[in-house]
Amino acid sequence: MVRRKLVVGNWKMNGLRAHLPQVAAIGAEAASHPQVEVGLCVPATLISMAAEARGGAFIGGQDCHAKTSGAHTGCLSAQMLKEAGATWAIVGHSERRADHGETDADVASKALAAHAAGLKVILCVGESLEIRDSGEAVPFVLAQLEASLPEGAAAEWLSIAYEPVWCIGTGRIPTMDQIAEMHSAIRAALIKRLGKDGNAMRILYGGSVNAANAAEVFTVADVDGGLVGGASLKVESFGPIIAAAA
Ligand code: PEP
Repeated sequence: MVRRKLVVGNWKMNGLRAHLPQVAAIGAEAASHPQVEVGLCVPATLISMAAEARGGAFIGGQDCHAKTSGAHTGCLSAQMLKEAGATWAIVGHSERRADHGETDADVASKALAAHAAGLKVILCVGESLEIRDSGEAVPFVLAQLEASLPEGAAAEWLSIAYEPVWCIGTGRIPTMDQIAEMHSAIRAALIKRLGKDGNAMRILYGGSVNAANAAEVFTVADVDGGLVGGASLKVESFGPIIAAAA
């Protein structure tokens, strides 16, 4: 099964109008590697401007509410992201799970809401260092996946990002064997749940991916691309990661 590599930047709470030239430069890099699907999930305030500058990259949001509208001060619906120019959304990022108490059920509802609005979805799972050290990382992540993956999930609109929490923004990455073990366990769980479509679903690795380690990470079996935080903010650091996936 050939799965097109997917490389997505998560700008988190970074980026002002002054950073739009980086969106354009990354979009140009994406256009020169059409074999890779490239995206940038920018702050919501930048989505419409980034959508104008995006070149060969898609623009996504970093979260959405599970409801379409209502009394939810400060929240954004998936339709709002779509109308602003997003075509994708991240759901279940560990920073949302930790800082906003999002449960697996919330994440599943958000994924369905994004899909209903016509957005594609990156659904994040990953274990803490405590769980990794306890030797329970694989069963923990598989349970999180089982509970976060909504009914009707399909490879055409949803991809998984395995992001060990202890590797996000820390400069640490697991060994290639640890990444391979987790991705193969996720693949088996997806096939069990979704049948043939589970083999088509992309599984990204995320957590301190950079220009120096991307090529090695992307050669690991069942790693279909990356979700990249810090290194996605500038074309100098994100461009080589895109190129490593090509
Ligand atoms: C992320 O936030 O999804 C992430 C992987 O961050 P970083 O690449 O900075 O570790």
